[in-house]
Amino acid sequence: MSDIQIAQENEAKEMQPITTIAEKIGLQSADLEQYGPYKAKINFAAIKRLKEQPDGKLVLVTSINPTPAGEGKSTVTVGLGDALRQLDQAAIIALREPSLGPVMGMKGGATGGGYAQVVPMEDINLHFTGDMHALTAAVNTLAALIDNHIQQGNVLNIDPRRIIWKRGLDINDRALRQVVIGLGGPVQGVPRQDGFDITVASELMAILCLATDINDLKQRISQIVIGYTYDRQPITVAQLEVTGAIAMLLKDALKPNLVQTLEHTPALIHGGPFANIAHGCNSVLATQAALKLGDIAITEAGFGADLGAEKFLDIKVPQLGKTPDAIVIVATVRALKYNGGMPLADLTTENLGTLEKGFSNLAKHITNMQRYGVPVVVAINEFTTDTDAEITLLQEKCAAMNVKAILTSVWAHGGQGGIDLAHAVLAALEQPQDFHPLYDPKTNIKAKLTTIVTEIYGGHDVVFEGKAINQLKEIEQNGWDHLPICVAKTQYSLSDDPKALGAPTGFTVHVRELLPKLGAGFIVAMTGTVLTMPGLPKQPAALKMDVTEDGLISGLF
Ligand code: ADP
Repeated sequence: MSDIQIAQENEAKEMQPITTIAEKIGLQSADLEQYGPYKAKINFAAIKRLKEQPDGKLVLVTSINPTPAGEGKSTVTVGLGDALRQLDQAAIIALREPSLGPVMGMKGGATGGGYAQVVPMEDINLHFTGDMHALTAAVNTLAALIDNHIQQGNVLNIDPRRIIWKRGLDINDRALRQVVIGLGGPVQGVPRQDGFDITVASELMAILCLATDINDLKQRISQIVIGYTYDRQPITVAQLEVTGAIAMLLKDALKPNLVQTLEHTPALIHGGPFANIAHGCNSVLATQAALKLGDIAITEAGFGADLGAEKFLDIKVPQLGKTPDAIVIVATVRALKYNGGMPLADLTTENLGTLEKGFSNLAKHITNMQRYGVPVVVAINEFTTDTDAEITLLQEKCAAMNVKAILTSVWAHGGQGGIDLAHAVLAALEQPQDFHPLYDPKTNIKAKLTTIVTEIYGGHDVVFEGKAINQLKEIEQNGWDHLPICVAKTQYSLSDDPKALGAPTGFTVHVRELLPKLGAGFIVAMTGTVLTMPGLPKQPAALKMDVTEDGLISGLF
């Protein structure tokens, strides 16, 4: 059965009212803004009240470098939450919101899979509570206000060639990467070159995910640099005097969304930046709420631990004010064989040689995560095609690194398939942790990037190319070089070359653009060929989707 069939069968007979789920974590209906019977936002009064409560423990779920289909991080996160609940632990899950880009493209939804899913999966994967649409509207409102300012006399002296604020759309639409706007004569605007980013890569998404309340949201929005004047001075949203308007459009989107798993474990799903082109973590507000409302908050960071987890630990943790108490690295036999050089189509065949070779990828991520001083557990997400010999080999290799590798079958069996993992995580939570971040943000941009490249990616060096050379100078002149770095990089490799699988060494990372994101509070370093507006593949998932007369959806996997 497909993910959507399992979800639909279960939803029809088993979903509990969202008020019942809320009661389990001590929330009353007055704390909620309901979106139908199964979805709710937690209101600001409740969030404020929660701030006084002590934090539970924090578990971060991350993974090895994935295959194009993903490795089951969301699936394992959901299954681990269900398993902990089965062990009577007050666990709460905090995940990202899906983007329509991957839903229509290649990967499908982002609500877990098999018997470890959050529901209602169709709603969550499509329009949910409208957060993504609110963000898209806010991104484009700001763009329209910038162009209108220029049209109406340009008092701020904005150079139309140096506007860095792009328009946005939550769809993979390669044709919009570069556009020309304002054609048609004086009343149609001032012509200029522009472009679209996918909404999940926009700075406003990062801001939504890092803001701690409405005031912080406004402060961050006011600091966004939208471009430069003719004499190269930065222009902010505060100078445009539209902070209030943009914040207003996001006032409801800022509230965390509460849903449930197939086993009725409470799950907060809020904010969804990609981890390759953005910072890859759900919102600080949702993670904080999970920490306050439960004894154990389980959250996920996107793609491999080189991307999502590094950004979680170096960008999100300082805003969250809480470091993880344990890190789970999800690995699959098939992705390790992929990292060992096996073609995607052959991954279902046993091959101990490529598994052993690809293990180098997991080994590097284990070392990287241990480096932060947090206990690490490996979850082997079991696929039906894995063989006993492959699982045994993988467990032996992990044992040789003194790390427990727990076979996990939550996709096939729900929480029951994650009981061993839950026990291992509970044991890890009892171990001492001594968190230390990777770098001191006060060091300069080159030093921070060099640390990320040499210590996390395993590379040798960083070079700045093309636009990045002047942008580096500009960032230093403006005094922005104290900010942390958000690397935009391929998810398939530890390096910036998607074909360099396993654990490559000695490589140089090429930074071609440096984008100041003053509102988010980081500098994006664009590497390799990664793009902030993805394209659709030859056979997009959209080709298989349909809806019946009664509104029943199919093909959303
Ligand atoms: P990630 O979070 O790493 O991107 P997901 O949890 O979203 O990955 O899973 C990606 C896809 O893989 C989903 O369609 C899910 O149903 C499927 N999947 C995950 N784990 C398994 C498994 N053990 N067996 C078969 N399919 C799986």
